[in-house]
Amino acid sequence: MVDRPSRAISGDQCLCRACGQYFNSTYAFDKHRVGPCRQLSEPASEARRCRTEDEMRAAGMALSAKGLWISAPMPKEGSSGSVAAEQA
Ligand SMILES: [Zn+2]
Repeated sequence: MVDRPSRAISGDQCLCRACGQYFNSTYAFDKHRVGPCRQLSEPASEARRCRTEDEMRAAGMALSAKGLWISAPMPKEGSSGSVAAEQA
């Protein structure tokens, strides 16, 4: 079998092959990856890596109801635009 994601992704959504997290957009995915892009002349230890879930939350990212990481929490639809802080 080929290595397929366990869920369907569509449009601009991304699956991080390194850590298995799903992202709602390439922008969110990029925000999840930190560190410099490694040049061939640099040691692999300096390569880019994934933020942990705690680091993503600290960076303002959030996990959507669909299980996709988003770059920033979005206001709930129909809530007149106010961002409700609903932490579980
Ligand atoms: Zn990752």
